[in-house]
Amino acid sequence: MTIEEIYQAFDQIGCLTFATIDGDYPETRIAHLFAWDEEGLYFRTMTVKPFYKQLKETGKISICGMSASPYVRIGEDGLPNFEPGYTIKATGDVKEISFVELQKKASKKPIFRLGVKDTIKYPDTVTFCIYRFKGDYYNYDYDCCSRDHKIIRRHFNFGNFPDRFKGLKINVDLCTKCGKCEEICQSINFKAVYQTKNSYAIDTGKCDVCGSCSKACPVNAIESYC
Ligand code: SF4
Ligand code: SF4
Repeated sequence: MTIEEIYQAFDQIGCLTFATIDGDYPETRIAHLFAWDEEGLYFRTMTVKPFYKQLKETGKISICGMSASPYVRIGEDGLPNFEPGYTIKATGDVKEISFVELQKKASKKPIFRLGVKDTIKYPDTVTFCIYRFKGDYYNYDYDCCSRDHKIIRRHFNFGNFPDRFKGLKINVDLCTKCGKCEEICQSINFKAVYQTKNSYAIDTGKCDVCGSCSKACPVNAIESYC
């Protein structure tokens, strides 16, 4: 995903959860992104807030949001049911942007003008840029109304943020090719397991990391990377 696509996916949700670290514990609040450019994603806070102090102390942030209805409906089968939609999250590093810098950006890109206006109205306002981050876009259609599998997942990385694989992989040295993982994944409509020339593999773009395949594998060949 491009930085613009990532911004738009967050912006269509609007209000997002912003998490920082306060001592030993995470702390969250609701805020929103207001701009993007080739240097990152932008949001505002005020210097008197704990949010600001935590950002300055740690330089770290994690944000996430969910489109569509956040309500969990219980279906006729007694299980939770969600309208189709998506979630998106990003974790990364932040830096403060000076008002002069913000004004310069606004002179080139109108999307930044809101930040300038708000800072003039509330002078304690400061702008931060999430300048490198990793994240995931997770599009769900659990009833398969628009496609034949439940989810589409995309991982993104901006600014070379330190990253590593998280999810499930099949250890081909242990796999006996019994096919049980593919069978169960097909039966619950994720359809993420596929056959390769010598074994089976998991398409991380479709995998929900639900764990059903690893429970079903008779030889524990499906390994979890957390
Ligand atoms: S974890 Fe779930 S979705 Fe992913 S491959 Fe296994 S059964 Fe399919
Ligand atoms: S269930 Fe386990 S052994 Fe069977 S095909 Fe899948 S990974 Fe291989």
